[in-house]
Amino acid sequence: MPGEKLSYPGRNYLFAPGPTHIPNQVLTAMNVPQEDHRAPDFPQLVKPLLEDLKKIFRTKKGQCFIFPATGTAGWEIALANTLSPGDKILTSRFGQFSHLWFDLVTRIGLDVEVIEVPWGEGVPVMEIKKRLRADKERKIKAVVACHNETATGVTSDIAALGKAMKKDLKHPALLMVDGVSSVASIDFRMDEWGVDVAVSSSQKGFMLPAGMALLAFSPKALAKHKSSKCAKCFLDIKDHLSTNEGGYFPYTPSVPMLRGLRASLDLLLSEGLDNVHARHFRLAEGVRKAVKVWGLKTCAASPKWNSDTVTAIMAPPSVNAAEVIHIAYHRYNISLGAGLTQVAGKVFRIGHLGDNNDVRMMAALGGVEMAMRDAGIRIKPGSGTGAACEYYRKTAKAIPAFKAPAAPKTKAKRRANK
Ligand SMILES: *Cc1c(COP(=O)(O)O)cnc(C)c1O
Repeated sequence: MPGEKLSYPGRNYLFAPGPTHIPNQVLTAMNVPQEDHRAPDFPQLVKPLLEDLKKIFRTKKGQCFIFPATGTAGWEIALANTLSPGDKILTSRFGQFSHLWFDLVTRIGLDVEVIEVPWGEGVPVMEIKKRLRADKERKIKAVVACHNETATGVTSDIAALGKAMKKDLKHPALLMVDGVSSVASIDFRMDEWGVDVAVSSSQKGFMLPAGMALLAFSPKALAKHKSSKCAKCFLDIKDHLSTNEGGYFPYTPSVPMLRGLRASLDLLLSEGLDNVHARHFRLAEGVRKAVKVWGLKTCAASPKWNSDTVTAIMAPPSVNAAEVIHIAYHRYNISLGAGLTQVAGKVFRIGHLGDNNDVRMMAALGGVEMAMRDAGIRIKPGSGTGAACEYYRKTAKAIPAFKAPAAPKTKAKRRANK
């Protein structure tokens, strides 16, 4: 029971791939009395947020939006603001999140063509290219892709997809990318890759509570907005476009969340995005080293699909992966990600995105090792943690050389010095 956790000493570690740990700087920044969102100086908070978000999405040409909603609403914002009922969408499905996005596309009245891909693989760029090439009449209005499939720990090559669509085929379809568990954690380049709408949300790489959908629209997507006929009101970017310009929102924003976003962007930008990405790679690589010496497999079907924000680990067939999660939570006070639908009971997931470092990952791996042994998975104690520990040590950043402090002077020496 979540309430019982209050009586646990220490903290509950969140090693689910979202929500993630909220850094102290963000928590403190959010702890503010309610502010007037129509105050004359409010734009001084809002305008730099919208500008700095562009740096995280890596777009200069695009425009960012902040909605008081979650990533799921972000999908709907992307589609409803650029398309019209009956428009044809091409997508692919290889995990719970790519499935949910497909589901949303159908439910808002678009005509969807889906490419089924085995769970553990990612966006099938060659197949999409083939179908776009066959689309002589340019009926496909958008290609929808999930950059990081959080359910299976799979990252797809959006650069290759963008190149295939825009450079090779010059197909006019919009490229819409779910970056909910990738943006602000792993490499994402909106302009360079040719992404038209990028969707993210607050509770993953941005290290905030849930409740904010963060999006970026390319100029092409903004132009499509003018003719899009999908029904929308709360999710219409039109009202944001007109109010954001002055540094306001069309309805009441959550100001503590905006304060938190300021702190989060400051953390990300002061560390430097490249460093943030490199840190996520290292932390993920340590987890992968552990999985390897445990003798277990990841859900990601080959290393090229490995995600640096989440690792989905396959339990041996004799063990229900949900039991590992159950024990980890109740006995060791750590939260792991569950296996969803197709992989329920088969995988458990370690989230390694957001506010993490080497020692936190050692806590995750230590807890997982204990919980796996308790659940009857015969791994050698200390094997995975040992491998990760050595990897983290060997790849740790350089520090100033150690100098032994001078020995304190004894009374006798001090007297002799006189
Ligand atoms: C978490 C997640 C979502 C859903 O976001 P919500 O904020 O829960 O609506 C969508 N896509 C991916 C890839 C995710 O990881």
